[in-house]
Amino acid sequence: MTKGSANRLVAMPGATVSMRESELMVGGGDRLIEMPVPTYVIEHPKGLVLFDSGCNPSVATDPQGYWGHIADYLHVRFTPELVVDAQLRQHGYRPEDIRYVVVSHLHLDHAGGLALFPNARFFIMRGELNYAYWPEKRHRAAFKINDLMPTRRFDWIELEGDTDLFDDGSLLMMKTPGHTPGESSLLVRVRDHQPIVLTGDTLHLRGQFNHLAPSETDFDRVAASASVARLKDLRDRGEARVWVMHDPEDWATYPHVIE
Ligand SMILES: [Zn+2]
Repeated sequence: MTKGSANRLVAMPGATVSMRESELMVGGGDRLIEMPVPTYVIEHPKGLVLFDSGCNPSVATDPQGYWGHIADYLHVRFTPELVVDAQLRQHGYRPEDIRYVVVSHLHLDHAGGLALFPNARFFIMRGELNYAYWPEKRHRAAFKINDLMPTRRFDWIELEGDTDLFDDGSLLMMKTPGHTPGESSLLVRVRDHQPIVLTGDTLHLRGQFNHLAPSETDFDRVAASASVARLKDLRDRGEARVWVMHDPEDWATYPHVIE
């Protein structure tokens, strides 16, 4: 492995959704937490990389029509300006220039914009696509088949485990299963900054680090807790910072441009 780095990481806002702390973290309280749903674009010498794709454009105009009852349950707030392609343009990028899309998992608040990038190459952990097409009944509302159907002929690469995407140490896709079967996180190294891990939904709240608490909605809570422990170890050893994507404090704290 040669040492390389990305040139820039930009966090882009998306929808917000709300759930009770107790649903997001075993042992949590009753308060409703309004969570950001960001996406990220990374400038790498090999091309532009998108991490996650937010909610489907239809959710901005007809949330109940596209998502059904879960739209009300999640109190989703979304506008056309917050759709991932509009955000890319707003940040000075052309959506058609996205060469790679890294997919943390296929829940409806992460996979809704995949179809907007028909010419990109998609990286995902093995197991996630199969599960998303035919999830267990208890998880079915969190996956939208219409997010996935237009992408069936896309260039999907299914990975077996941790993968150094460009073989230069700049982007490490980490297998952190539990929230879903193929959940992953992305470690990003930008120039000489300390690496930062974008968590997907490996955990939803910083507070989960305290007791390695999984989330009520996790597919496999034992695996989820082990994945939280893995990211906590990285953080505690000082090897990386961890950006918990849905945590409102992390959204407020981390710089939205690292370069
Ligand atoms: Zn999720």
